[in-house]
Amino acid sequence: MSDPLAFLADEVAALRAQHLYRPLPELASAQGPVCRVDGREVISFSSNDYLGFTHHPRLAAAAERAVRDFGVGSGAVRTIAGTMTLHEQLERDLADFKGVASTLVFQSGYAANTGVIPVVTGEADLIVSDAFNHASIIDGMRLSRARREVYPHKDVAALRSILAVAVAQGHPDSGEPYRLILVVTDGVFSMDGDICPLPGIVAAAEEHGAAVLVDDAHGSGVLGDHGRGTIDHFGVHGRVDIQVGTLSKAVGVLGGYVAGSAALRELLTQRARPFLFSTSHPPAVAAACSEALKVMREEDQLFERLWANTRRFKAELARLGFDTGVSETPITPVMMGDSAAAIDFSAHLFEAGIFATSVVYPTVALDGARLRTIVTAAHTDEHLDRALETFARVGGDLGIISG
Ligand code: PMP
Repeated sequence: MSDPLAFLADEVAALRAQHLYRPLPELASAQGPVCRVDGREVISFSSNDYLGFTHHPRLAAAAERAVRDFGVGSGAVRTIAGTMTLHEQLERDLADFKGVASTLVFQSGYAANTGVIPVVTGEADLIVSDAFNHASIIDGMRLSRARREVYPHKDVAALRSILAVAVAQGHPDSGEPYRLILVVTDGVFSMDGDICPLPGIVAAAEEHGAAVLVDDAHGSGVLGDHGRGTIDHFGVHGRVDIQVGTLSKAVGVLGGYVAGSAALRELLTQRARPFLFSTSHPPAVAAACSEALKVMREEDQLFERLWANTRRFKAELARLGFDTGVSETPITPVMMGDSAAAIDFSAHLFEAGIFATSVVYPTVALDGARLRTIVTAAHTDEHLDRALETFARVGGDLGIISG
């Protein structure tokens, strides 16, 4: 009998042949600026651990207390018996952090986007989305019955004309005005590290009676006062209807949330499928996230360090002759173009003790392969010195820069 799943191995072989197969690096240590990956000690620029919270002693202590008092698992979905005081406390803490009426926590940022978008939008609605939005937004839109339009990356003029046509013509099937037009954008774009033009987006939305959803996965904990995010960075409080955030990056733990009005939270508790049909976080996760928000409020120097490191790393990579693209945040791509070249550069850096992962198609365009580095507050000057020396030497040897 032939194997009915034989095509799986063929697909894997095809990916390998195109240099598009990504093995999973394995950490044998805690996450951090220095970690043990695939048997080698390396300086890592590959995590989203912006503030060094994955291994922060105060978060670990909060998690341990929660395990002692509440156990290791929540035992149920939120709507049955899986809502503990720690979950509700975290949602109040997040509302305070974001300056909004209500928040609802999901199991991940991915679950937050795929949960909220199909609840808020339906058949009578239009979603207008930036071309570079994250996969979880795209999947959220696929799960919605709304019509979809995509505007070129960060192009507010193009967004405006899509909105004008949508308002003038209404829904093409019914000819009726849309019930809702929802503009959706990442706050910080995850592969290029550029920031959305939010003041222009909210102005365009207001002019056309549209609502705005910002996915601030890479903005929260990084931009704005004490990491309050992209909305705070631009001072547009009250003008963004829905925010999505993650607890898995700067917050250092796991999860996502939707922030907005009390009615939004209430409807999500009744309708958002990932929330309804998947067990809530272990209590230690909720407790560690609440502690992270406290540390963010108290420790100014974390943000000073994050931005000082970011400025230095970017400036010195550029001075060495690397193309760091259009980044404005700690996400610092090193643009390579060709997938095989990006994978090769990453492998040579790794041999030399620097962990900077390559990102290739389908995460970025076929000719947009790059190394994607993220600088964190936990990197010391010595870590950056060593990394920059290594980038210069390996980049010179491989002919990426004129060394
Ligand atoms: N949105 C954006 C913009 C992201 O970069 C990510 C992280 N990959 C997510 C959502 C998903 O977040 P999480 O890892 O918490 O599922």
